[in-house]
Amino acid sequence: MEKIKMTTPLVEMDGDEMTRILWKMIKEELLNPFIELNTEYYDLGLKYRNETNDQVTIDSANATKKYGVAVKCATITPNAARMTEYNLKEMWKSPNGTIRAMLDGTVFRAPIVVKGIEPNVKSWKKPITIARHAYGDVYKASEMKINGPGKCELVFTAADGTKTTELIHTFDGAGVIQGQHNLNGSIESFAKSCFNFALDTKQDLWFATKDTISKKYDHTFKDIFQQIFDEEYKEKFEAAGITYFYTLIDDAVARVMKSEGGYIWACKNYDGDVMSDMISSAFGSLAMMTSVLVSPDGYYEYEAAHGTVQRHYYKHLNGEETSTNSVATIFAWTGALRKRGEIDGIKELVQFADRLEHACVSTIEEGKMTKDLALITTIENPVVLSSEGFIKAIRENLEKEYK
Ligand code: NAP
Ligand code: MG
Repeated sequence: MEKIKMTTPLVEMDGDEMTRILWKMIKEELLNPFIELNTEYYDLGLKYRNETNDQVTIDSANATKKYGVAVKCATITPNAARMTEYNLKEMWKSPNGTIRAMLDGTVFRAPIVVKGIEPNVKSWKKPITIARHAYGDVYKASEMKINGPGKCELVFTAADGTKTTELIHTFDGAGVIQGQHNLNGSIESFAKSCFNFALDTKQDLWFATKDTISKKYDHTFKDIFQQIFDEEYKEKFEAAGITYFYTLIDDAVARVMKSEGGYIWACKNYDGDVMSDMISSAFGSLAMMTSVLVSPDGYYEYEAAHGTVQRHYYKHLNGEETSTNSVATIFAWTGALRKRGEIDGIKELVQFADRLEHACVSTIEEGKMTKDLALITTIENPVVLSSEGFIKAIRENLEKEYK
């Protein structure tokens, strides 16, 4: 078969440890034999980030703005132990944080659903995608402990010096207080990313806050979403046959538990932090969660939701065989290649992405899987494969798709 050609480069962000090993295998076994891969390569491995004073991360984010689509391998976020391990000049910031800040994006996380890895919630048949607002609220709050009686107020001093105050509480004794904020601009970007992603993936969008209690703060989120929807998205949603649905957060939680899945659930920062862990563990495995950063300007960066799988990497360095699941990393590639194909009008590339995903799913459904899945599958006598063996099994199924 003739290799599929690409017209625009895909931004490729390489990473660290076990996922870096998988990255190379995926390219050699599953991509290069089928595609004339056209990527602009950025090495986000910690060693090179350190050599370039993290400039490579900034360059890769700028390249994503230039070309529109990126695929990223998991990367180490340095901590004290990594400072010595990699002899770092500085404790470089998380690449994901840097890229997200530069693209002003929202992260959408969705499970890959396969037969044999059953969700803990029986009614769930389709993936539930969580969109987490990644700015403000309790994550940028100021807090105080109050030791005794006194009055606590919110004070806003406008640029012209005018003050507005609001009583929080008159304390009779000790207590605690907290001041939170958010920005209309950030909420607007969040809303647009969610509406765009819903249109892209043809899924309904749910959004929920506690606006009945928080009549100004949470209500502002609700109002901004509604206004942007009415002005810019209502007709597009109708044309696509999807809906935007707002409800209270407690009602949303109750409905999610009784639903079939198949929608996007937009969450404020804290709700998204908590609910994404609930959704991913209830769907089965962190190794089966995909993640995509969508900017309000329509740039996309695809990755796996898990980290660099450090424990497996040290086994690999010791010469031991590993059984690391590459599915989420493969889906990062297929997500990015499909998007590139859609933008550039290359239907063979879109079809390749579909076929590779299908090959991954059928490999698992045939009972061939990595250890993490073998531990939780309902399939009897699964065959546990090594990291490499699993990718080779997917290759066999992918070749069948082209016969
Ligand atoms: P992790 O890499 O997600 O791995 C945690 C554990 O989850 C593993 O030890 C393994 O369990 C299991 N696991 C995760 N992915 C798996 C896969 N594909 N196949 C099989 N098992 C898998 O998290 P971590 O060990 O806490 O973090 C390691 C490094 O990743 C850190 O330096 C962190 O900064 C970085 N990180 C990066 C990203 C990112 O780039 N997006 C995200 C999170 C963390 P068992 O050991 O029990 O087999
Ligand atoms: Mg969390």
